[in-house]
Amino acid sequence: MLIKKRSGEELSSFLNVAKRCAEEGVFLTDTHAHLHFPEMVRDIDDHLKEASKVGVERFITVGINKKDSSKALKLAEEYENIFASAGIHPHDASEFNHSDIDFFIHTFRKEKAVAVGEIGLDYFRNHSPKDIQKDVFALFLDLSVSEKLPFIIHNREATKDLIAVADPIVGKKNHGGIVHCFNGDKELMKWALDAGLFISFAGNLTYKKADELRDALKYIPLDRLLVETDCPYLSPMPFRGKQNVPANVIFTAYTVCKVKDIDYKNLLFTLENNINNLYNIAHAKHIDY
Ligand SMILES: [Zn+2]
Repeated sequence: MLIKKRSGEELSSFLNVAKRCAEEGVFLTDTHAHLHFPEMVRDIDDHLKEASKVGVERFITVGINKKDSSKALKLAEEYENIFASAGIHPHDASEFNHSDIDFFIHTFRKEKAVAVGEIGLDYFRNHSPKDIQKDVFALFLDLSVSEKLPFIIHNREATKDLIAVADPIVGKKNHGGIVHCFNGDKELMKWALDAGLFISFAGNLTYKKADELRDALKYIPLDRLLVETDCPYLSPMPFRGKQNVPANVIFTAYTVCKVKDIDYKNLLFTLENNINNLYNIAHAKHIDY
């Protein structure tokens, strides 16, 4: 319903609001992107310029395995406003070798490394056996505790096991965390909120049929909310089906505004505050490319 009603006129007036916020120095962060992936990094300056035009000025590029996490870190070290995370995505869990732990600890201690992730469980694709996924997930949660970093969780059709693995570790001690690309799962939402975690919404929030997801958003306090693109995946409306880019995070933020009945600038202040509560990183600022 939200998207159908969005006429060209409404969209252009929203884009003007976003640009005005950018001119006033009120910026938005894409908290989960894969900017170092080959299909993104080859046009990275264009993506950053395009994002900057609509006020998206800070990015967290998320690693999915050992080699990929090195690439994430390298990109973050080249760009002041890009930060990186390192981890093993559940798809890649069976590739993980215990001798890689030193590499990850070394990586987590770099200045531009801000999180452990993405980690978690994915029983939809099951690219790695469940037991291995669970072991690797638990190990990285432990690392997030010992390295005093927040974690970024990926969950697909594995809620019960995910909570069973994470709860004892997260309940003991944690430095914050994010359930990324939230899909509306109420059990996961309740657990995450009770555990003090953040819930991050991606472009699927804007889809026509996502009424349930938008309903779930109504229950999530603003001070537990983040937005992301997960680019190159999951383009929001009106770009669904195309390769996603970090600038598109504004459309997810726009949908949050409508669902939560909050104005865009206020939402940006709230999200910036949330990020600073979670991550020890510099404020978003404009950079000329
Ligand atoms: Zn991702």
